[in-house]
This record gives sequence, C-alpha cells and structure tokens, in this order.
Amino acid sequence: MDIQFTCKECHSSIEVVPSLNSNKIQCSVCLNIDEVNFNQEHLDGILKNCPSCNRMDFYKQKDFNRKIGVLLFIIAAILSIWTYGVSLIVLWLCDLFLFSKIGNVVICYKCNTNFRNVNNLSEIHGFNHEMHDRIVYSDHDFKGEPLEH
Ligand SMILES: [Zn+2]
Ligand SMILES: [Zn+2]
Repeated sequence: MDIQFTCKECHSSIEVVPSLNSNKIQCSVCLNIDEVNFNQEHLDGILKNCPSCNRMDFYKQKDFNRKIGVLLFIIAAILSIWTYGVSLIVLWLCDLFLFSKIGNVVICYKCNTNFRNVNNLSEIHGFNHEMHDRIVYSDHDFKGEPLEH
C-alpha cells in the first residue's frame, strides 16, 4: 500500500510506504513532523483505520491523472488540424480504454490522506456527499459504517 499524506502545515503531499518502525513523517517542504500510526494491517495493504487521524471512514474514486489528460487533449487538438479531427476521436477512444484500466485511490474523508494499492478495496464505498459534509463540517464519526438510504 502506498500512502500520500497531506502536510498539515503547508498542504504539500508526503508519500510514505507503511512501516512499523516509523511513527513520524516529515514534510520535505516545510520540515514539519506529523505523527502517524501504522499497524500490521497497513503493511498488508488492509485499510481499516486511517494512520493519520485514526478515523475509519473512507471513499474510493478513480485515480485519474488530470494533468496527463489535459496534455493529451492539447496534443490531439493540435494534431486534429492535419487529421481533420480524427485525432480527437482517437483520444476519446483512448480515454475510454484508459478509464477502464485506471486504478482506484482511497481517500480519508476526515484528513484527505490518499491510499493506493489497497487490498480490501471491495469493502470501501464510493463518495457520499452527506457523509462528507457531516464528517468535515460537524465532525461526525461514522466509525466505518456507511450511511444507508
Ligand atoms: Zn509541509
Ligand atoms: Zn484520516
């Protein structure tokens, strides 16, 4: 499991691979040190509680790299002048293909820590707006139970 924390001081991202020997992470930009809590489950790629805020509420979404998408679009748009727009259709097909291949990223509602290569992905639900608002604005703790409707 790869973990990407957000520095509480300067909001830079800090990439970490879990290890039982380390309970501190240091931001390479502002040198602020944050406490983290890794356990054996994290080492096995099982995400039950957040190593940063200890909450159990996460959502998953497609791990789409927006910068690459924009770059590809610009290239296709330039090429379309010579290809009479065919490159834009090719780009659209590539998009469809890539989207089905793209992995998932799991995100902590409370502290926005990102997790990749999570092994219990099937237990994690998609984004829920109501849960997000209640966790972020009223500090509600769902303790890993998804909101049923
Ligand atoms: Zn920082
Ligand atoms: Zn968290």
